[in-house]
Amino acid sequence: MTEPFEAERLILDRMPRAGVCREPLERCAGRVLAEEIFADRDQPPFDRVTMDGIAIAYSDWAAGTRRFTVAGTQAAGAPPVGPGGDGRCIEVMTGAMLPAGTDTVVPVERIARRGGEAEIAADAPVVQRQFIHAKGSDRRKGSPLLAPGLAIGSTQTAVLASAGTRDVPVAKLPRVAVVSTGDELVDVGDPLEPYQIRSSNDRALETALLQHGLGTVTRQRLADDEAAMLAAVERLHADHDVLILSGGVSMGQFDFVPAVLERLGAEVVFHRIEQKPGRPMWFGTSRAGKPLFALPGNPVSTLVCAARYVLPALRFSLGLAPAPLEYAVLTEPVEMPKRLTLFMPVLLRSSGSAVLEATPRPTNTSGDFISLAGTDGFVELPQGPSAYDIGAAVRVFRW
Ligand code: AMP
Ligand code: MG
Repeated sequence: MTEPFEAERLILDRMPRAGVCREPLERCAGRVLAEEIFADRDQPPFDRVTMDGIAIAYSDWAAGTRRFTVAGTQAAGAPPVGPGGDGRCIEVMTGAMLPAGTDTVVPVERIARRGGEAEIAADAPVVQRQFIHAKGSDRRKGSPLLAPGLAIGSTQTAVLASAGTRDVPVAKLPRVAVVSTGDELVDVGDPLEPYQIRSSNDRALETALLQHGLGTVTRQRLADDEAAMLAAVERLHADHDVLILSGGVSMGQFDFVPAVLERLGAEVVFHRIEQKPGRPMWFGTSRAGKPLFALPGNPVSTLVCAARYVLPALRFSLGLAPAPLEYAVLTEPVEMPKRLTLFMPVLLRSSGSAVLEATPRPTNTSGDFISLAGTDGFVELPQGPSAYDIGAAVRVFRW
C-alpha cells in the first residue's frame, strides 16, 4: 500500500502541464497567469502631481519669492500646459503631469489666491520635489511586474490593466469530467424511492473545482453496469483532460470502476492508500496520458481525497506557484487508528497570539458528510503514534 506523501508524489509526477491561452482581462479572476508581464512604460509614466495646489520652480522659492503669477491650470488627463518658473506658477490637480519649468508642488491649503496671483503662506514648509510621484520611481519600462504562476486577484488585475494587458496569457483550464457511480444515486430535484439517495459527490466535486478555478466541469451519473460504464467512460475520456470518478472502487460485487479503467487501457499507478478515510482510492493514467482519479464513494472520503490529492494535482498542472505548507496546533488530543494516516476534519481559528488552532470535528462515519459543512478542512495525522496530543503541530488542508 501507498503512503499519502508517496501517493501525492506519484500523482504529481504524472500530471500534464496545462497549455497557455489568452483571455480578456475581465474574465481572468482566479485564473493562473502563464507568462511574465513586463512594464510597457515607466510607472508612473510621468512626474505625477500628488496634491491639489500649485507647481513652482523651487529656485524661485529659495530666492525668496512667495507671490507667484498663475500662468495656467494643469488638470489630470490634460495635455501639458506651462511652462512655469521665473516667478510663474501653474495650478495643478492630483494626477496631473508636472508642468515643465516646475519641480515642486505646494498644496492648496498653504496658498492664498488673489486675482491672478497665488501666495504661499510664510510658514509653509517647502522641500524641493515635494508632492511629486517621480516618473519611473515604481518600475522602469521593460522591468518585470508579475511572475507566471500567480493566481489573478484584484491586485494582479490592477497591474495587468496598468500594463495594458488587454488579453492575458493564462493557463488553459482542463476539461474535467466528474463521474459519480452507483445504482442508488438520484440527481438533486428528481423523485426518489426509499432505497435511493441523492447524489452529492458529483455536486461537491464540481463546486470544489469551480470555487478554486481549477477546470471546466461536466457532470455525469453512471449506473453500476460494467459495459455501459465502459462505453460512457470511453466517451468522456475522449472529450476531457481529466476524469474524476467517485464510488465503485472497493471490494463490492458491483464495484466496477478499477476494472473499467483497466479495460480502457489505463496504467494503474496505485490502488489503496494507507489512510483513513479514503483507503480504496485508485489513481492511474490513460494511454493518452490523461490523469484518472477514482475516489471512494463515501462522501467524506470523496471530499477528503479531493482536497488532499485532486485539487493540489490540478493546481500543479495549472502551474500555480505552490502555497507554503500550512500548519495548525491541535486544541484536543486525537486517538489514532493502527497503521493508517488519519485525516481529521477541523475547525480553524487564530488564537489571540496569532497561532492557527485546529479543533477536531470527527464525523460519525465516513458516510457522515453533514457535519463537514461546519468545518474549514482537515489535518493530516501521519501514522506512527497511538495518539496526537494537544499542542501538536500538524499539517492543514482546506476544503
Ligand atoms: P461505494 O464507494 O460505491 O461503495 O459507495 C460508498 C458509499 O458512498 C455508499 O453508501 C454510497 O451510497 C455512497 N455514495 C457513493 N456515491 C455517492 C454520491 N455520488 N453521493 C452520495 N453518496 C454516494
Ligand atoms: Mg457504489
